[in-house]
Amino acid sequence: RPVIKLENVTKVYSLPTDDVIALDNINLEVKKGEFLAIMGTSGSGKSTLLNQIGCLDVPTSGNLYIDGRSVRDLNDNELTDLRRDKIGYIFQNFNLIPLLDLCENVEYPLILKYKKRDDTGRPKKLLEMVGLDETRVWHKPNEISGGQRQRVAIARALVNDPAILLCDEPTGNLDSRTSVQIMDMITDLHKEGRTIVMVTHEPDIANYAEKTIVMGDGKIISEGRGFS
Ligand code: ADP
Ligand code: ADP
Repeated sequence: RPVIKLENVTKVYSLPTDDVIALDNINLEVKKGEFLAIMGTSGSGKSTLLNQIGCLDVPTSGNLYIDGRSVRDLNDNELTDLRRDKIGYIFQNFNLIPLLDLCENVEYPLILKYKKRDDTGRPKKLLEMVGLDETRVWHKPNEISGGQRQRVAIARALVNDPAILLCDEPTGNLDSRTSVQIMDMITDLHKEGRTIVMVTHEPDIANYAEKTIVMGDGKIISEGRGFS
């Protein structure tokens, strides 16, 4: 059974002048443990598709199922729980909180969930796991490099041990050497059994995935293994 299933998902943005069909009747299944890349030109619907999969936005029509549960049937609290417990998000611009140190950034989702400070040491262990130097954990995000920020963001995405990891251009702001390190890390998370869906416009990065779909004008225009 697919861990993610989109059934006739259409997303229309209504603008004052016209309607933009960002997703046009998408049908897609992602199996448990699969690593899928989403490619396509700018404006083709990649981010909109990832936001739908991440339950960050509701479809105009059609339906999304996560682990067999119809997202339409969930109330706001259930949806928040699902996003928090099942899905980790990694972004191009890292989205770390500037005023919090690195350890607090990773701890933050736990505070939201348990309404108290962490006493398990998990944030620090995760920072160690992603290879962040121990002397760095009390620094602020603006005191470290882009590659280190993405490591912190990955640690934060993992803190609730999600089965699904969504990555939007995870290497978009990184040099090629650092990109390889981050992709190796994402590949390891896939080997551990996590389901990965990643948006990228770079063929070299898509090649890390097992399967690639290419978006064009809100539709899936091709589908294949790797990119080449
Ligand atoms: P990408 O996903 O390609 O890195 P963005 O998601 O920032 O880039 O934008 C993709 C396209 O969507 C752009 O053409 C941009 O103008 C458009 N877009 C993004 N957000 C909005 C918005 N809030 N209103 C209108 N257009 C938007
Ligand atoms: P991509 O990620 O492939 O660059 P997007 O999913 O960001 O593409 O955008 C798909 C289409 O939807 C584009 O035509 C874009 O301009 C439009 N779009 C995206 N976000 C918004 C928004 N918030 N409001 C209006 N239009 C949007």
